[in-house]
Amino acid sequence: MIPPSFEYTAPRSVEDAVRALAEGGEEAKVLAGGQSLMPLLRMRLAFPELVVDVGGIPELRGVREDGDTLVIGALTTHHTVLRDPLVRRHAGLLAKATATVADPAVRHRGTLGGALAHADPAGDVPTAIVALDAELVAQGPDGRRSIPAAEFFTDYLQSTLSPDELLVEVRLPKPGDGWGFHYEKFRRATQEWAVVGVAAAVRRTNGRIEEARVALTNMGPTPVRARATEAALAGADVAGDAIARAAASAAEGTAPGTDLAASAEYRAHLARVLTRRAVTAAAG
Ligand SMILES: Cc1cc2nc3c(=O)[nH]c(=O)nc-3n(C[C@H](O)[C@H](O)[C@H](O)COP(=O)(O)OP(=O)(O)OC[C@H]3O[C@@H](n4cnc5c(N)ncnc54)[C@H](O)[C@@H]3O)c2cc1C
Repeated sequence: MIPPSFEYTAPRSVEDAVRALAEGGEEAKVLAGGQSLMPLLRMRLAFPELVVDVGGIPELRGVREDGDTLVIGALTTHHTVLRDPLVRRHAGLLAKATATVADPAVRHRGTLGGALAHADPAGDVPTAIVALDAELVAQGPDGRRSIPAAEFFTDYLQSTLSPDELLVEVRLPKPGDGWGFHYEKFRRATQEWAVVGVAAAVRRTNGRIEEARVALTNMGPTPVRARATEAALAGADVAGDAIARAAASAAEGTAPGTDLAASAEYRAHLARVLTRRAVTAAAG
């Protein structure tokens, strides 16, 4: 399985990378960890004329604080994300979801930005980012723009990024007091992709849920918020059966597919069961 031939460049700065992407136009592709792009090239499902390898741009890596915001560089690997103390303290949901991604080999090379730009609806990382209300920052020839996670994913393997834009960082609001988080993933075997996943973020006060954000993996062409469940959870008593009743509407407004792993009906069933578990765990 030999990839098609292409021009290759390895810029050392974000500006040079953006310039190379602009020159390459529609035929240019960013290479980060290569975990998704290389198989596509080797299977000849992608034919870029130019590959822009951003692996040597140090400013794209790392985790830092910026006031009330946690900032993670797009080239930060899954391995770093799930071990970083700042991520664990301020974005535990992202660490939990990232820990379920594939195996150590993929996690050592795959990057946060690559997982988001690839926009696979079966990906665990995009769902966590949506539930955390993150902002994704892209840089293009006209400068930087910030995209809310809920607007970033547009269709199956599609995002709002244009071919001349580089995803540079992800900005996560630090949660205040009372928030709890959990990620539930159902898969047929260890280290596999999700059949369905649920990311839950819940703010509680005195045994009641004040606010809930629930995002679903693989329940449509993009990560999707379970809006009916979120609305039903507002004001719910954690101790009663309100969480189970709210979870019953988790599949409302979703469009799961049928494939070899599961039928659409079974995915809807999983969404309800996993939502109940994820919200219960997040609510403590
Ligand atoms: C065997 C296997 C199992 C996996 N299982 C899971 C799983 O269970 N859950 C899960 O969530 N993921 C899973 N993944 C995917 C993994 O999360 C990869 O990290 C991710 O798909 C791509 O990251 P990457 O850095 O390797 O990106 P690459 O493969 O280098 O790039 C992927 C795409 O994103 C674009 N891109 C990359 N970085 C940027 C950027 N900064 N700006 C703009 N565009 C960019 C590339 O042009 C390309 O189109 C799996 C992958 C493999 C190989």
